[in-house]
Amino acid sequence: MLQKRIKIKDALASAPEGQTITVMGWVRTFRSNRFIDINDGSTNANLQAVVDFEREDPDLLKRITTGASLKVTGVLIPSQGKGQRMELKADAIEVLGDSDPALFPLQPKRHSLEFLREIAHLRFRTNTFGAVFRVRHALAFAVHKFYNDKGFLYLHTPIISASDAEGAGEMFRVTTLDMAQPPLTDEGKVDFTKDFFGKSTNLTVSGQLEGELGAMAFSEIYTFGPTFRAENSNTARHLAEFWMIEPEMAFYDLEDNMNLAEEFIRYIIGYVMEHNKEDLEFLDKRLEEEEKTKPEAERSDMGLLAKLSFVLENPFERITYTQAIEILLQSPAYKKKKFKYDVSWGIDMQSEHERYLVEKHFKRPVIVTNYPKEIKAFYMRQNDDGKTVAAMDILAPGIGEIVGGSQREERLDKLIERMEELHLPLEEMSWYLDTRRFGTVPHAGFGLGFERMVQFVTGMGNIRDVIPFPRTPNNCEF
Ligand code: ATP
Ligand code: MN
Repeated sequence: MLQKRIKIKDALASAPEGQTITVMGWVRTFRSNRFIDINDGSTNANLQAVVDFEREDPDLLKRITTGASLKVTGVLIPSQGKGQRMELKADAIEVLGDSDPALFPLQPKRHSLEFLREIAHLRFRTNTFGAVFRVRHALAFAVHKFYNDKGFLYLHTPIISASDAEGAGEMFRVTTLDMAQPPLTDEGKVDFTKDFFGKSTNLTVSGQLEGELGAMAFSEIYTFGPTFRAENSNTARHLAEFWMIEPEMAFYDLEDNMNLAEEFIRYIIGYVMEHNKEDLEFLDKRLEEEEKTKPEAERSDMGLLAKLSFVLENPFERITYTQAIEILLQSPAYKKKKFKYDVSWGIDMQSEHERYLVEKHFKRPVIVTNYPKEIKAFYMRQNDDGKTVAAMDILAPGIGEIVGGSQREERLDKLIERMEELHLPLEEMSWYLDTRRFGTVPHAGFGLGFERMVQFVTGMGNIRDVIPFPRTPNNCEF
């Protein structure tokens, strides 16, 4: 049995009173043939094991190299050296797995994030990614806790989907047809009636439409699962495979929706600040160092922890799309022609516009509501002005859009009218329209991109560095 070990996090939290313990982990460094820093991933801090090298077998000492895995049994005592509260006086050391120093890719120095992306398994063993993925875990746990405590039902919406009406992005096709020699219809097109599902299918871009069906029975549901978009945008904020949280609530209007989104974001940030203090402190320092390498004008005026506390304590700004356009048109940036893309009522705001509003103008998260109907999805509730819909996007500093949501169109006639305008297949969507036929109610929901949230909380600039195995155009390693 191996599980008599104690985790390093727990060992470090205990009082060193001469108790005998066993730890297992990987060697971070071995100094002076005497001090082994061991890490087991439970915390960024290492446990220092002290070896009596005069008594130890020299062949064993040679095998204690960076990256090797060890089992160490010893006595936990207060440390005589500086830098740690306690140390483990090693009585028995067993090398579980060797690590050839000539081949081990990590050196005790700073590696670039790009380099680390190429060694997926060892990047988990670095301080930065240790902190990032422990925070990611805590955020995911907090998501479930938040909704469970509120009585929302976790609904598992499908990954494979036949509906292509969502229009949220380009889709990945799912097929078992032989694409070199596909069956053809009389018109010479691929005959998807011969495909596995008897029709053309894709990986889902969103669980919302199915989520609405759940809300029409359970009142309040949420999804938390992978979504896929074949968007060819190689940005620091887009992945081809990402995780999304989509709550969908009956008896909510746009304002209820915004209130929930704000409360939700605050809750999960607060949870991580309470439970992952050390990781956030580490990431705060990391970001401070990184910021120093940037030109003055690009540095943010707030550190990571300061930013997170600010978000906890201050309400988000709420403005309409029309007001947002007005602010942009009046901005010095616009007047000095600093924007690459033009501004006028009706545009789909570009990330430079969103960032101006959030980072320069309001200096806090902003909720923008009531967008022009032309740039939003068919299911959003039409406002009385005939031009806008009850949409809401939440824009966050450094990230841009983090939440997209709306009050949904619950009136069957209005919904059908809009779908006809957009030439959407009413027949195929009949299962969805049924929600408006049998006991429709005002309802609303939103989608939070989980990785963008992890970026926001960890301060990582590139979305590839907050998901364990990133999938992006031309990259599907591991
Ligand atoms: P963007 O304009 O940034 O591409 P979007 O309008 O396509 O976002 P929605 O369709 O509203 O986004 O999706 C809901 C949320 O999912 C977004 O607010 C964002 O947080 C996240 N998201 C969207 N696309 C991606 C992606 N490719 N990778 C990671 N997260 C994404
Ligand atoms: Mn998009």
